[in-house]
Amino acid sequence: MQVWSTRGGAPPTTLSEALVRGLAPDGGLYVPQALPRLDASTFDPAAGRVATGVRLLAPFFEGDPLAPHLDAILGEAFAPPAPVVPTRVEGLDLLELFHGPTAAFKDFGAAFLAAALERLRPGRTTVLVATSGDTGGAVAAAFHRRPWARVVVLYPDGRVSPRQAHQLEAFGDNVVTLRVDGTFDDCQRLVKGAFADEALRTEAGLTSANSISMGRLLPQLVYHAQAALEVHAARGGAAGWIVPTGNLGNALAAWMVGAMGLPIGGVVLATNANDGLAQWAAGGPVPEGGRARATLANAMDVALPSNLERLTWFRERVEGPALHGVSVSDARIGEVVAEAPERWGHVVCPHTACALAAHDALEVCRTGHWVAVATAHPAKFESVVEPRIGRPVAVPEALGRLLERPRRGQALDPTAEALADVLRSSAGWA
Ligand SMILES: *Cc1c(COP(=O)(O)O)cnc(C)c1O
Repeated sequence: MQVWSTRGGAPPTTLSEALVRGLAPDGGLYVPQALPRLDASTFDPAAGRVATGVRLLAPFFEGDPLAPHLDAILGEAFAPPAPVVPTRVEGLDLLELFHGPTAAFKDFGAAFLAAALERLRPGRTTVLVATSGDTGGAVAAAFHRRPWARVVVLYPDGRVSPRQAHQLEAFGDNVVTLRVDGTFDDCQRLVKGAFADEALRTEAGLTSANSISMGRLLPQLVYHAQAALEVHAARGGAAGWIVPTGNLGNALAAWMVGAMGLPIGGVVLATNANDGLAQWAAGGPVPEGGRARATLANAMDVALPSNLERLTWFRERVEGPALHGVSVSDARIGEVVAEAPERWGHVVCPHTACALAAHDALEVCRTGHWVAVATAHPAKFESVVEPRIGRPVAVPEALGRLLERPRRGQALDPTAEALADVLRSSAGWA
């Protein structure tokens, strides 16, 4: 299948090319030329996620150089489990996506992208990412010690949780972690500036791994599809999905699975106080963007979600699950984090708390079955969670191993020149 740009100004190309490029040359987002329609009754959830993923993604990879490797790539990316577990609330399950190396759902997409790029036999590649916390760690873990790659991560000093900061700086080797005296917006501005500098881009072999990459979007379809098939097999019907949402990558993946004919009946976009998307889903205007508000669910501090252009493009062409939106205040996130062990039977991170709060708030959730997506492990947001539940949260083993490593980050002045110096240097190359 060919892919093209949401803006229609770039020639159709292969999926592999889109994975390498990240953003389409006309500034749009890559989209598949069609969304395949599949027959849910021909899937067997007992065959497992890799088998489900191969069937689900094969149409997108048809004719692509990566097609023969799809099974192996999925096998690598989907090593960690993603179980559906019950809650104490009737009609509500949790889909736990936090069992990967950095304890957030982004591990699956980042691992798929790294495994895919590796098979395209790239030359020396610098993966440059700005992170508000979780992306940087997931990308670093996925590319760590791949000899053809170097990762340069920028994060806003003092604006991620203490454990996120340690984890971001724990890799070393081919991962260069830069602490920026500024906000996430400043980090993003620096990264965009580097990509816009054609000479620097070529010299450093820059590539992107942000959430608009098709290489992160497509694998996210797989865990939603597998969970939807499992829930359907256990209960019949199509469950609704409630997704903590920032840049809209994960929720878009769930929507696409429903639009492809698998049993997802509706998608709730659960946002924090950055409520533009929730208002849009309720029939309001496209969010304006501008500066995002800092909230307790920091991985979702996004004013203008980058995947909205893609979701809008699809919705103009194919029918998909109904969309709903709920914006959750910091006060409510705090309450839900505190009440979650007793009321839902789980300790949850502040992002997952938005999904639980949305289930609580929405009339449409009073009937039918719902799956709330747990996007990160609560131990990663200890400074929010532990004071509210009054006890420590045990750290998952993989995250614990990272936190035992020394911190190796370096401070970066928030200027284009300082970043260009690092990118032109041999830092991170053996
Ligand atoms: C990135 C992230 C989100 C938001 O996901 P999007 O795909 O950007 O909407 C939600 N929760 C956590 C824990 C995250 O790391």
